[in-house]
Parts: sequence; C-alpha cells; structure tokens
Amino acid sequence: MRIDIITCLPRLLESPFNDSILKRAQEKEIVTVNVHDLRGYAPDSHRTTDDYAFGGGAGMVMMIEPIHRCILTLQAQRSYDEIIYMSPDGELLTQSIANQLSMKQNIIMLCGHYKGIDDRVRQHLITREISIGDYVLSGGELAAAVLSDSIIRLLPGVLSDESSALTDSFQDGLVAPEVYTRPSDYNGWKVPEVLLSGNPVLIENWKHENALKRTKKRRPGLLEGN
Ligand code: SAH
Repeated sequence: MRIDIITCLPRLLESPFNDSILKRAQEKEIVTVNVHDLRGYAPDSHRTTDDYAFGGGAGMVMMIEPIHRCILTLQAQRSYDEIIYMSPDGELLTQSIANQLSMKQNIIMLCGHYKGIDDRVRQHLITREISIGDYVLSGGELAAAVLSDSIIRLLPGVLSDESSALTDSFQDGLVAPEVYTRPSDYNGWKVPEVLLSGNPVLIENWKHENALKRTKKRRPGLLEGN
C-alpha cells in the first residue's frame, strides 16, 4: 500500500511514522508513506499556500492551486483509490472504515490548516472526507496520522500474531476483554484465576464473557449494531 499525505507542515508528520509499528511496516515494505510539502507546489516564489477569505472573516484559507498541482503530480504517476480530505465535518472514522481502506492500494490524505481549504477542492478534487471526532484540531496532520495508523496496523504482516488486530476492540462488535501480565498478585490485587489455569477452553470462554460484559457496560450501542 502507498499513502501520500499532502500538508503545509510536513514536520508535524515526522515522528508518528518513525517509531514502533508504523516504522517497521515501512521497513518491511508493506507500506510506503510519502509526505508532500504543499509549499513546493505554490505557483509563486514566496511559496504561498494560503490567502484571506473572500467575504472577510477571521482566519486564512488554503488555496486551491497548490493543492490541485500536487494532486495532479501524484495522479500522473499512479491512480488513486481515494483522495481523502481530513475534515471535522467528514464521516466519523470507525473500525469499519479503517478495515475498508486497508484493502486499497493508493490513498491520498489532504491536511487542512488555518480556517480550512478553498471549498472548490472539496467539491471537485477529493473523493471522501473523514473526521477523527467531533472536535476541531488546528490541522489535519494529526488526524491523517491517526487514520494512517488505524489502516496500517491492519495490513497483513504488520502486527505479529500475538498482537493480532483481529482480537482488538470493535473487530467483532465487542470491546476487548481485560488483559493482565506478571506479577499475578501485586499488592494483593489479583489476576482473575482462570487466566492462570492453563485451560485454553476456559480461558477463551472467560475472554468472550468478559468482552460481552464490558461491552454491555461501556458501549451498549455496539450490541445494537451502532
Ligand atoms: N474552520 C473549520 C476547521 C478548520 S481546522 C471548521 O470549523 O470546520 C483546520 C484543519 O484541521 C481542517 O482543515 C482539517 O484538515 C483539520 N481538522 C480539524 N479537526 C479535525 C477533525 N476532527 N478530524 C479531521 N481533521 C480535522
């Protein structure tokens, strides 16, 4: 898979992709993540990518031309399955959207900044808008990193068997069961006995019951398919 992230602040995306699982996924060549600095696509020598809003109002607006030039340059090299604008009013990111996107080959993620982007980008150039939650961030970079992480960890070979994404929350419509590690008794706070029993059937049953109980308590909506 290939992910191209378009941003006017590329440095914000350095650390999320340079550690741990996301770094290893790139080293194993399961995914390539390319960050494109929008300023390199500005038509003027000042490398301007934003301007005042027509009609007035506070906040700068990202201009269409650098974004369009960047997208055209990328599209000249390969075709893209999705061109996603990270947006607080987009569809809310869920595990099912991450699953869906993990089947794609090439994805562009566009990060807005300031007051947002010229709406003609949204009307004519992108295929989808995704939000990571009902709150406003100062830029789309962290949102693009969250979306990328949720997709990349699903790609075959990225997670080792024991941390398989299949046993994570939401994959089976339930939240994950409790997990424990050594010591089995800390300060008198004990790990559930059954997990120490060595009986795989009992352990599996306990995990399922525990996941069900936690889902009822924490996220009952999941049991009704929400
Ligand atoms: N004026 C806009 C917010 C702009 S925030 C509004 O009220 O809707 C600046 C940029 O941050 C946006 O262009 C978007 O790319 C990104 N962003 C902010 N909140 C986000 C969220 N919840 N999910 C995804 N991207 C977000």
